[in-house]
Parts: sequence; C-alpha cells; structure tokens
Amino acid sequence: MPRICIVGAGVAGLRCADTLLRDGFQVTILEARNRLGGRATHRTLPSGHVIDLGPNWIHGTEHNEMYDLANSIGTILHQFPSHSTIFDSDGQVLRDGEELDTLMWNIVGDAFKYSAEHTPIISSTTSLYDFFETTIEKYVRPGVNRKRRVEILIQLSERWGAYVGSHIKTQSLKFLWLEDCLNGENLFCASGYKNVIDHIAVRAQQERIVKLSTKVTLIRSNEKTVKVTTDAGDEDEYDEVVVTVPLGWLQRNKEIFKPILPPQMSSAIDSIGYGALEKVFISFPTPFWRIEQRDSVCNKPYSASLQWLKPTYAPDTNSQQFYQECVDLSGLPDPHGHPTLLFYIYGDQAIAISNTLKQLPQSEEKDKYITEAFKPYFCLLPGYNAALKDCVPNSCYMTEWFQDEFAGFGSYSTFRTGLEAADRDIKIMREGLPNRSIWFAGEHVAPFTSMGTIDGAYMSGESVAKRISAAYGVTPLTTSESLK
Ligand SMILES: Cc1cc2nc3c(=O)[nH]c(=O)nc-3n(C[C@H](O)[C@H](O)[C@H](O)COP(=O)(O)OP(=O)(O)OC[C@H]3O[C@@H](n4cnc5c(N)ncnc54)[C@H](O)[C@@H]3O)c2cc1C
Repeated sequence: MPRICIVGAGVAGLRCADTLLRDGFQVTILEARNRLGGRATHRTLPSGHVIDLGPNWIHGTEHNEMYDLANSIGTILHQFPSHSTIFDSDGQVLRDGEELDTLMWNIVGDAFKYSAEHTPIISSTTSLYDFFETTIEKYVRPGVNRKRRVEILIQLSERWGAYVGSHIKTQSLKFLWLEDCLNGENLFCASGYKNVIDHIAVRAQQERIVKLSTKVTLIRSNEKTVKVTTDAGDEDEYDEVVVTVPLGWLQRNKEIFKPILPPQMSSAIDSIGYGALEKVFISFPTPFWRIEQRDSVCNKPYSASLQWLKPTYAPDTNSQQFYQECVDLSGLPDPHGHPTLLFYIYGDQAIAISNTLKQLPQSEEKDKYITEAFKPYFCLLPGYNAALKDCVPNSCYMTEWFQDEFAGFGSYSTFRTGLEAADRDIKIMREGLPNRSIWFAGEHVAPFTSMGTIDGAYMSGESVAKRISAAYGVTPLTTSESLK
C-alpha cells in the first residue's frame, strides 16, 4: 500500500491518519511536540481540575461531526446563558445590558447576511466596525438615551475580537461570511476535549505510527515521490505528504518546500490572517461572587458570562481601556465546575500581556502580575472583599499561544481587512499540490462553515484522507465529498 506521511498530530492530522489507516494505507505521523492534540490540549490546575488551553466550545450543533463524536463518547456539554452581565466604563452594571447585547448580535447577524450577499461589491478595506458605525443609528430607537445606547453598542462590538483573536476594526466585512459557523447551539465542553482527542488518536496509538518530538524541516517532492527531512537529519521517502501544521507556522516557513511553492499557493498562504487569542484562568478558594447572586442595579442574577466595557478605572494596568470578558467556570455542572474565572483576551492586549509574562521567570511573579492585571474586573463582582482570603486568587494561568512556535505564534486563522479573494485562496490551499504529492489539512483549510474551528480541522483531515484514498482507487468519493 502507498506510504503516507502526515506532518502534525493535531485534530486534522489524527483524523486524517485514522481515515487512511482504516483504508489500509501505511501511515507515519511526524509531530514536533512531545504530545498529541496540537492546539487542543489541557492542563491540570493545583485544585486538580482540568482546563482546556485551546478549544472549549462546540460552535454549532447541526451537521457538526465533532458534536456528534463528543456526544457519542459521553462528553458533558454545557449551555451557558446567552445573556451577559455587563459593566459600563465606570464599572456599573448596565441596566439595559441584556437588551443591548442582543441588539449587538442582531447587527452582527445582519452584517453576516450583508457580507454573504454583497461580497463582490464590498471594498476590501471595509471592516465589520465600519458596518456598525454606518448602520447603528437604525437599530436604536429614538429617545432620551439614544446617544448613550449608540455609544455602548459601539463599545459592545469589541466583543467580536474575542471570537476571532483580533480587533473588530481589522475584521474584513467582505469576507465576514467566512467566520460564520454551523447552525445550532454554542456549547461548552464541560468535561473537556481530552477524551475527544484520545478517541480520535486510538488507531494511531494502537498502530504506533506517531513519531513525537520530530520537527519536519524539509519537504522535497517530484511527480513520483516526496522526501521528508526532520530536525534530527533523518530523511524518509513517501508516496504522499499531508501537511497539517498551523497556518502561522506555514507562513513563516514556506522555504521548507523544495522546489519552492508555486506563486499562487505561496500568496494564498500569506493572504489569510492569523489571530492572537489567549485564555487567562484565575482560580479562587471559593466562588465568592455566587454568595450574593443579584446585582443591585437591575436586581437580576449575575450571569456566568461577564463583560467589562472600556474600563476607565484601571489606568495602571489597562491604560488603553481594552474590553474584557470572562466566563464563570463555577457554573459548570458537577463535578466539572470550579471557582475559576476564564478571561479571553485578544489582539494587542493579548500580545502585550504575553510579552510581559515571558520576561517574568518565576511563577509567583507571573501570578502576581496576572492578579493585578485582572483585579479591577473581578473586584467588581458581588461578595468581593479585599480583606477576605476567599477573594484572593490561589492560582493563575495564562496560555502562551503567541509565544508558541508550533502553534504558529498565534491562535487560528481569521479574515482581515485587505483581503481580496479569501475564498479563492482557501480553495487553492485546500486543493493542495497533488501533482507534487503535497496536501494540506487543518483549521485553515476547513469547510467554509467551520473555518478556524476544531470541527473544521477534523473535517479537513478526513476530507484529505478521502481524496488520497480516491486517488489510489481505494474508496471512491461520493458526490458531496468531492464538492467539500
Ligand atoms: C486559545 C484558543 C481557543 C480556541 N477555542 C476554540 C473553540 O472554543 N472552539 C473551536 O472549535 N476551536 C477553537 N480553537 C481553534 C482550534 O483549537 C483549532 O482550530 C484546532 O485545534 C486546529 O487543529 P489543527 O489540527 O488544524 O492544528 P493543530 O492542532 O495546531 O495541529 C498541528 C500540529 O502540527 C505540529 N507542528 C507544527 N509545526 C511542525 C513541524 N515543523 N513538524 C512537525 N509537526 C509540526 C504542531 O505541534 C501541532 O501538533 C481555539 C484555539 C485557540 C488557540
């Protein structure tokens, strides 16, 4: 049977391997890290709770293979309430926060529709923020508070950045439709993605085909074979190679391909953006904020989802008044809940904090820095009292994707202003270079309804495997598969 090399043991690589092994191919996975899963990985907190450092959510439950898989192996999925408790720029709970948040998502929904219907005529420099600015007036009823409500809606729009890892002002409106996800609910994997990864990796583990701590440094190909070289200097020959490294890694290392990539492929790889999203976990001895659940302004229960708009009250740690948001993991079902606030930070703020933490060698210094940086927000929660031990974090952790070479120094692909033909560029990458035995898989070449997601990575790995299998006459493609 043909020999296939898969570069990378993330979800795309593992799914690709599983499908090819089932079809009888000889498969080898070369993985630079000393573990499987790529960006889908976890860590155990001092409390013993396991946290996911990459994906947490399943975006869309309709026709989502990842959702079906997670369900089939008994993953506990949780739906957080869709509304948030929102603090205004003075740190006061917004009375009409829920209504404005809904309005904000309505505008995003309309922007998606507009993007999909008008792509050819939208300028490549127009951002999602521009759409907000130019259309917002029509969403806000005239009245005494109109000016304030418009201002808050604009501030709320910054929430978009936590979805894509970069600011709404750089989000392409022309290709916003590529950020759309599958229909259905957005669910949080309460029991974590670990079992999902273990499940996808079963066959690869059983057949011992993964070489860990093996970085690929050179891929030389011709019409007949492809030779893959590793950082240890080993070179092996294969019939096909499937490259599943993150887009951010590919963009920095295109020279590993010999002969060089055709210009069309090279510019397709360069054109798509790569976001910076980081997660900050701050744990407490108890969820002190649940002691008194109602906020005094609207007398409503605090939501497990919290937002702080343009904070003016944190000049020392957030002079640029970056938007903040978090989810309260104590709201997860037993036994998965724990008194931890999970903040999502993105773009310039994520990069700045990540770079500062890198300079702090001791974990105590890092904890102190994280505590001070996020105290202005958690100290606004009900029940907070600086003198109580329960209100002092007992562990802090921030992810380091922006410092991680094998994550491509970032989080996942995104569609920034300036893009002229993102859909064409993705199709070029997805097509690969079959005449040179080179294929690409991963979240950046996923089906258009799942770009940047774990389900997209899963489906892209499967899709490439099926195309290789069909090319060797093992399993023919169905009509829908050939169209994917
Ligand atoms: C902070 C964060 C939050 C996220 N949240 C969500 C979410 O809630 N829901 C969701 O659906 N998605 C989310 N994602 C995106 C999701 O994690 C990715 O889309 C998915 O895991 C990508 O899988 P992949 O196989 O394409 O890439 P990866 O998982 O990155 O796999 C690529 C593999 O290639 C390896 N590699 C790199 N270079 C080399 C080399 N030279 N030689 C050999 N191996 C190499 C890497 O080590 C890695 O194991 C999130 C990502 C991040 C970072």
